[in-house]
Amino acid sequence: MTYYSGRHFLQLPGPTNTPARVLRAMSKATIDHRGPAFAELTHRLLDGARRLFRTEHDVFIHPASGSGAWEAAIVNTLSKGDRVVSFEQGFFAQSWAKVAGRFGIEVMQVDWNPRIGVTPDAVLEQLDSDSSIKAILVVHNETSTGVTTDIESIGRAMRASGHEAMLFVDAVSSLAVTDLQHDAWGIDVTVTGSQKGMMLPPGLSLLAASPRAMQAHATATLPRSYWDWDDQKAFNERGFFPYTPATNLLFGMEEALAMLDEEGMENVFARHDLFGRATRAAVRAWGLDMVALNEREASRAATAVLVPDGHDADAVRRVILDRFDMSLGTGLGPFKGKAFRIGHLGDLNALQLVGTLAGVEMGLRLSGVPCETDGVVAAMEILMEGATV
Ligand SMILES: *Cc1c(COP(=O)(O)O)cnc(C)c1O
Repeated sequence: MTYYSGRHFLQLPGPTNTPARVLRAMSKATIDHRGPAFAELTHRLLDGARRLFRTEHDVFIHPASGSGAWEAAIVNTLSKGDRVVSFEQGFFAQSWAKVAGRFGIEVMQVDWNPRIGVTPDAVLEQLDSDSSIKAILVVHNETSTGVTTDIESIGRAMRASGHEAMLFVDAVSSLAVTDLQHDAWGIDVTVTGSQKGMMLPPGLSLLAASPRAMQAHATATLPRSYWDWDDQKAFNERGFFPYTPATNLLFGMEEALAMLDEEGMENVFARHDLFGRATRAAVRAWGLDMVALNEREASRAATAVLVPDGHDADAVRRVILDRFDMSLGTGLGPFKGKAFRIGHLGDLNALQLVGTLAGVEMGLRLSGVPCETDGVVAAMEILMEGATV
């Protein structure tokens, strides 16, 4: 028997569930993107983006997915032959490095255990070995593994080292999920996408750029057109874009920013922290392992669950989709077939999380994966601590 009534559970680590308020905001009629109402909207959104990134400097909004922001970060600040460092944190870190490589950037790939976060010492070791490094590329929350890297410590170590390298951070699945402070942490370029913590459909990429990144931009020579920050800034200052922007997504963004403001960012972060802990309590109670080795580094956005040898993680996902109409994330890269990922970010409350975990528990049992049956109970114990959600 399959039950298809009610809401589909989109428990991927992105795209996430879009709140009804955001969908309604986006269903307004499209307006003139060169008119006065639009200019006011643009200014409000750029201010909102600055608050999200915790920056007082330049922010950019492009119609694109997160990968577009990766490209924008590179073509705006680097030149052919420049050297950057990337750690083998997982699928997304390596995909960003690949984009850089395609533009003729020399990427120094550092062998890294994807089950742990990048350490400041590892970054310093690279910087010590080469004074010509232009940028360090780090993923804040590697969505393929559910491992978070301590960006604040890396930023501090880089500044203390006196090395000139810029710090580029992929915050696609961490912004509006966990604390990130572009200015205070010394980040030069932060990139994100709309479809994860921001609760929007896919289609917007956002970036924050430090004054140092803007200086690098002034002399960087990679070819760029659509992503060019000079064009973008010149138009943005007047409230417009150099091209037709994704107007209705921008309506949605304004509503999502209002929702985040109403909840309060501290509460948003605390909610995601609680949901991450509840999910991991469930996984431990099932007797299964996670890709993330250390609780301290475990993601507030997503949990990658390993299935025992001889079992197929994608078969578990298929059963859950067929029987309970819930989508989970597939294993990526080396974790294909070995792990599935539970997204617990974005527009989600405690009861939706309990439903999600119940679906996973039933799916594991129906697929014949050996597991204990008290995962949901363990999660509920954690959720009862969180009085505000
Ligand atoms: C989702 C994601 C991206 C970007 O993916 P798009 O599909 O291009 O939006 C990049 N990095 C991380 C860490 C992600 O989670």
